[in-house]
Formats: sequence, C-alpha cells, structure tokens
Amino acid sequence: MAPPTGDMSAAEFRRFGHEIVDWIANYFEHIEDLPVLAQIEPGDLKAQLPSAPPDKGESMAAILADVDRLIVPALTHWSHPSFFAYFATSTSAPGIFGELLSAAFDVKSMLWRTSPASTELEEVVLDWLRQMIGLDPGMSGIIYDTASVSSMHAIAAAREGVEMRIRQEGMSGRTDLPLLRVYASDQAHSSIDKGIITLGLGQRALRKIPCDSEFRMDVNALRATVGTTSTSSIDPVPEIIPIGEEHAMWLHVDAAYAGSAAIVPEMRHILAGCERADSLVLNPHKWLFTPFDLSVLYCRHMDLLGRAFSLVPEYLRTPEQATVRSGSDYGVQLGRRFRALKLWMIIRYFGHEGLAARIREHCRLAQLFASWVEESTEWEMMAPTPFALVCFRARPQVQADTEEAEAKRLDVLNEAIMHGVNATGKAFLSHTKLNDKLTLRLSIGNIRTTERHVRQVWELLNEQLRLLSSAAV
Ligand code: PLP
Repeated sequence: MAPPTGDMSAAEFRRFGHEIVDWIANYFEHIEDLPVLAQIEPGDLKAQLPSAPPDKGESMAAILADVDRLIVPALTHWSHPSFFAYFATSTSAPGIFGELLSAAFDVKSMLWRTSPASTELEEVVLDWLRQMIGLDPGMSGIIYDTASVSSMHAIAAAREGVEMRIRQEGMSGRTDLPLLRVYASDQAHSSIDKGIITLGLGQRALRKIPCDSEFRMDVNALRATVGTTSTSSIDPVPEIIPIGEEHAMWLHVDAAYAGSAAIVPEMRHILAGCERADSLVLNPHKWLFTPFDLSVLYCRHMDLLGRAFSLVPEYLRTPEQATVRSGSDYGVQLGRRFRALKLWMIIRYFGHEGLAARIREHCRLAQLFASWVEESTEWEMMAPTPFALVCFRARPQVQADTEEAEAKRLDVLNEAIMHGVNATGKAFLSHTKLNDKLTLRLSIGNIRTTERHVRQVWELLNEQLRLLSSAAV
C-alpha cells in the first residue's frame, strides 16, 4: 500500500518493476493466444469499473490483477503479429525502455535549460533520421505527437509565410484577406481537413484534386502524399514541385506512413523531389517500431514556424535563449515529452541496416500476399502495392448479375468476409472504398509479423469466402 506521504518505496518499486517487465515479456511471448480485436461489446468495461474513485489507496498487486482481469480483455492488441488493420504499426523493446526512462525523467522539454538532453538529443536524432531517409541538410526536424499535429503546424508556417499579419490580426472580420487555398489530393488524409479547420482557414479553402487510376494526384496541384492512407499510393512529387514553385506555394509532403520506407536504400526514390519540398511529415510511430507517439516534421523554414508560434513571457526568458533551440518556440505546446530518447535507443539498437531489413521484409510479405491474390480466380487486386499495404477484394464468379447488382453483392460479401475474419480473433483487417467499391486492406507493419501470419490470414479469408459462398447457395 502507498505510504501516508511520498511515493512508493524503492524496494516496492523494484519488486513491481521487475514483475511488470516480466509481465510484458510474457505478454509478447503469448500474445497470439489473445484475440487481436477486442471481443467485447460497447460498455462492457465501464460496467465492470467502479463509477467513483477509491478513497484509500489500493495495493499494486490488486491493481495489476485488474489489468489482467479487466483491461487486457478490453484491448485490441496492436502488438499482435496478425494485426493487419489500418496501418499496422508496432512498438519494440528498445522503444519501451525509452518510454520507461522518459517517464522516470518526466522532463518538460520546453526550454533548453529545462531539458538540455531532450533538446539536443532531438536535434541529433532527427538529423540521423534525415540522413537515413536521404533528405537534404536544408531540412530541420521537430518532434510533435502525431502527423495530424505536424501537418497542422506546417500549414500554420505556410500561412505565416504569406505575410498577411494573421498572427497579429487574425482572420475573422477582415475584408483585406484573400481566400487562402490549400490543395490536396482526394486521397489525402483527413488530418489535412482538420488542420485547416483548426487554423480557421475554413473547409472551403481546401481543394481536393482528383487522382488517376492508381490513386496518385493528377499533376495540376500542390500538396502531396507519399503513401496515402487508403492505398499507400505516391503522388508524383517531382511533377508537382515546379507547379508549386511557379505559384509560390508551400509544398507539404505527407509521408506519415511511407516515409520510413525511404531508409531502405533501394526505396529511397520514393522521396524523389522532396529536396525541393517546404515540409514533410514522417511518423516513426507508424513504421519505425516506435511506441506511440512520435511524429517528425521536417521543415525548410524553421524561422516561419518560429514566427508563427514563438512567444516568450518574462517567466520563460533565459540568458542562453538566443544561442539555443527551445522546442516550445515551434509549436502550440509549451511542455513537450522527451520523445527523442526512444527513437535514439531504437536507431542505436537496430541500426540503420536492421531497421531497413525489417521494412524490406514487410514489403516482401505484402508482395507475396499480393501474388496469391493475383493468382487466384476468386480474389482481385484493387490498387498497386508500392509498400506493405495490399488492397484487394473477393470477386468470385457468379452467373449474370447486372453491374449494379454485382457491385452491391461484392460490397456486402467483402464486408461480411472482413467481419467474419475479425470475429475469429485470429487476425484483424480493415477496409476502405476505392472507386466506390468496398476494398479490404491488409497492412503489414508489425515487428513480429512473419510469413506464417500472412499465410494464416490468407487461409482465414478463403475460409470465410467458402463459408459465405456455401451459405448463399
Ligand atoms: N497522414 C497519413 C498519410 C496517414 O496515413 C495518417 C494515419 O494513418 C495520418 C496522416 C494521421 O496520423 P496521426 O495519427 O499520427 O495523426
């Protein structure tokens, strides 16, 4: 039990600390015994939790027992090797250690002096990552929590760059402001919409540019994605750049998912053109084995980010401020977590080559799965597979449907297959719509995923297809 004042004793901390590390090792060793998708109904967990907080402290042993009894069954296990939904991601042992230490240090990385280690390690580790993905040294990095927030900051810097005194005078009630436009492909992530909403540009500012048959932006506009969310398609950045330059526009590249693949030497070309981009976002918490959260914004105009956000009240003034970098000058937040530590530990533990080998293997597994789809007469590919995301659907041959009836039948069938697989608890897939057709997405990004897991989900999918086809007969 907690002492009357002060924290847990060192002896108890040591005891439970060891126990929790053992628990985590066990969790990873046996994670495949757990259903990937939480098999509970909405409200199930809440119904089992007391509605009021405890008056007296409880024992750590009782709390940990409830983690097993209540929390674990209510988890969707993102660390499960058969998690193939959305963008599959994963934590890793060095990343967990980094989080643990960071929680112990509990640094608020706002000014250099409140967090010299965090501030300087962030600069160094982001420069390592910049080199690993082959970006030019003109880009400086800054860590935020998510890509949504990184992109929002990029839009804010771009807005500062239009020299319309928006920081000072705002946007509302002004008749002297033109409509500020943001162009994005119609496959761009919804975080761009949210950034625009947050910054008060208004949704009407956003022009969604249509895509070609491979879901890449038609080259007549300016914001780009390398690795879109629905299909992981790559916008033709080198062709977009000159148009942006001609109109003095800011080019922000959303490489939140796929940017990590550029650490693989033979995949570096995916960021071609980005040497002329104004900013680029990449999420190590997506495909660089970094526990959530850690998103990196690379920006060529840190001065504009600073102009948009730096605000130093008297109580934050320091003698060294002119010569050091302070994270809080470049964003909405004052205090920032010490996230660089986990990324530093991950890059050091696996090395550039080790990280690249894992991403390369994920891409190989995705190609293997895609080859099964292509060879089958009952399934079809719905988009190319440039990375480790496969977009496909079942399309069993059926006699003479009308086009409309077939479209509906296939949507219903594929949705049922997906829910059927997910209900087994053995794998978890998600979906999107491509050209209005329900499309299954298999995303491979977990550090523990092997060929065995990919073969298993293929079998599960075929099993569901057989079940549903025989039920329909
Ligand atoms: N951009 C792209 C291309 C994405 O795929 C995603 C999420 O999947 C995001 C942005 C948003 O990421 P975050 O959750 O870090 O805000």
